Amino acid sequence: MSHFLLEKHRHLPAYVPGDHEEGEGFIRLNTNESPYPPSPGVRDAVAGEIGRLNYYNDPDCTALRQALSGLYSLAPDQVIAGNGSDEVLYLAFMAFADETHPIVLPDITYGYYDLFAAALGIPLVRKPLDEDFSIDYRDYLNVGQTVLFPNPNAPTGRALPLWQIGEIAKSNPENVVIVDEAYVDFGGETCLPMTRQYPNLLVVRTFSKSRSLAGARLGYAMAQSELIAALETVRNAVNLYSVSRMAQAAGVAAIAENDYYMANCRKIIEARDYTTRMLRAQGFEVLPSLGNFVFAKPRAMSAGVLAERLRERGILVRHWDKERIGDYLRITIGTMQEMQALEAAIEMIFGRA
Ligand code: PMP
Repeated sequence: MSHFLLEKHRHLPAYVPGDHEEGEGFIRLNTNESPYPPSPGVRDAVAGEIGRLNYYNDPDCTALRQALSGLYSLAPDQVIAGNGSDEVLYLAFMAFADETHPIVLPDITYGYYDLFAAALGIPLVRKPLDEDFSIDYRDYLNVGQTVLFPNPNAPTGRALPLWQIGEIAKSNPENVVIVDEAYVDFGGETCLPMTRQYPNLLVVRTFSKSRSLAGARLGYAMAQSELIAALETVRNAVNLYSVSRMAQAAGVAAIAENDYYMANCRKIIEARDYTTRMLRAQGFEVLPSLGNFVFAKPRAMSAGVLAERLRERGILVRHWDKERIGDYLRITIGTMQEMQALEAAIEMIFGRA
């Protein structure tokens, strides 16, 4: 470790991403990506930017914000784009929390929140999920701190009903309530319309999951314009040009071809239903999921061993060797063929084929 690194950064936790084998033969059910490639318009739009890479990108992401505001019936100043929703979330942490302003969030949730908080010295107040892994919205009422949760939550796939989000926003009027809707397009309900009523509600989204652009790094947030302006203030101070020309063009083109992506979401929902039934038939306990993944507990074998056996057969799934969730696997939903390959592999491993 370099002695130049400040003491306060020496114990930063490391985010452990899912393995990224891209070679032939691996079925990647471990990082919640889309199995479907970007639409043709995205390829053309990205290619069209190559000849203009000598020019800086538009720091305001004007065309992208217009496209998003059109899609969601907002004004363009109610949208901010970022380098993945990770960046948007990081900016929200910077804007609304610090050493003396903690963030309240579920104890089991998206792992990067921990790292942002550690990097920025923000204390986290963790509210345990219920026994069935659902968020109890009452834990977040009148907390008087910034609140954050994904809806649906990751890695559980469970969602809160909108009225409960409304209660959380209403009872914390002096604090921002950040709802990370990374997975909302897979059957969840968005709380976006409630931003009209609640000036403290911030909805964060990504192009990484339902819009097949994980590698482009494109996310965004929507809220009343004042809240978005607050994020812009912070963003302009740290990385004005964080959304590349290619990412902006890809986003605009993806919105123009929205039907393609929504059709893919329907296919993923179908494959998720199939996978849930299949895993239950194989003896797994499977949480009801509204994401592009399921959280499932094998009964015939430990989750860690099964992840390893699947890997030997070229199928990657996600396992965390952690308290409460160590018995579970998070399995991304791919194409129907990929899920059938998973089924065949499980049958082989359990010796039933
Ligand atoms: N939020 C949640 C809940 C996630 O699971 C992820 C990624 N897996 C993200 C945000 C970040 O996505 P991205 O930075 O690719 O937009």
